[in-house]
Amino acid sequence: MPDLAGPLPLGATIGILGGGQLGRMLALAAARLGFRTHVYCPDDDSPAFRVTDRHTHAAYADRPALEAFAHTVDVVTFEFENVPAATAEILSGIVAVAPDPRILAVTQDRLTEKSFIRQAGLPVADFAPVADRRELEQAAARIGRPAVLKTRRLGYDGKGQVRLDAAADLDTAWTAIGGAPAIVETFVPFASEVSVILARGRDGTMAAYDIVENVHGDHVLRTSRVPAAVSPATAAEAGRIGTVLAEAFGYVGVMAVELFVLRDGGREGLVVNEIAPRVHNSGHWTETACHVSQFEMHVRAVAGWPLPLPLRFCDVEMDNLIGNDVNGAFDRAAEPATSLHVYGKRDARPGRKMGHVTRLKPRKDSPF
Ligand code: AMP
Repeated sequence: MPDLAGPLPLGATIGILGGGQLGRMLALAAARLGFRTHVYCPDDDSPAFRVTDRHTHAAYADRPALEAFAHTVDVVTFEFENVPAATAEILSGIVAVAPDPRILAVTQDRLTEKSFIRQAGLPVADFAPVADRRELEQAAARIGRPAVLKTRRLGYDGKGQVRLDAAADLDTAWTAIGGAPAIVETFVPFASEVSVILARGRDGTMAAYDIVENVHGDHVLRTSRVPAAVSPATAAEAGRIGTVLAEAFGYVGVMAVELFVLRDGGREGLVVNEIAPRVHNSGHWTETACHVSQFEMHVRAVAGWPLPLPLRFCDVEMDNLIGNDVNGAFDRAAEPATSLHVYGKRDARPGRKMGHVTRLKPRKDSPF
């Protein structure tokens, strides 16, 4: 893969694979630093298309379109982890891609992802692979109940996921996930969920944000809060876990690690759930509450620019606007100390992320 000769000069073009809200916010952040962007996405209703210098509306398997795209940009990055391996290979034959697309092969498959995390010496829920219906029997027996059956690939926001309670019927569960290759993992009786968002630069510099506490509803992120209600030791351990994973990959860019917090009396522990090799929904608050957002941090990292430790000005609570929630945007805009971001998607379908609001509060432990 070609590499960057040095830091990207002002006016250089960053290629972004994927045109959703994450791609849109990356393009906006790149523009602030004087870079141009070229967004590539197969979906014609791509919110990033409206804020980028150039866009290509083509399929991920369209080799001529990918090659043409690659020749117009100085570096390529992506806003989502399900970029097909063949797409990444075509691009990385022509232009620098960051993070290294080999990370996609690991994180696109829950089995390789969990194995990787375990090999890095980090705690994950016990898991067993399931290739077919017969193996589901064995895996469920070994892991015990309650457990969670998850497809190995293309599962996100709870899609391709079924809980196996004591009474759950394996035939029904197997049908529910479409009989696809899967894993069974122990159900984690977590007290809360947190994420760590951090960046690693081309020179190995690390820059981490404060740990975020996340509340999901129907498996979709609803609310993120900073600071997270965890002990300083747990926050430090989450940061260490993120650092170990970023180093293990030789990662370049922003990554998010989602973790479960276990609480037993006064004691806390952490279990890694998954890795997102990209900017993350639980980091949207950094747009308003930090001097460098996760989007700018990612742009800086892939561009080979300096990565400062992000300063957080205030405490925050971010709510996603999901589906019709976005129709309340006008009223939300009137709320005090609240910033609003609407993604400009055409249809407010149920479950679709349409925007977010971030409520700012005075910082309790202000370092300023
Ligand atoms: P995932 O798609 O793996 O990120 O899962 C989405 C959400 O489902 C998580 O954020 C948790 O709320 C829940 N979940 C996933 N795996 C487990 C597990 N092993 N135990 C308990 N809850 C889980």
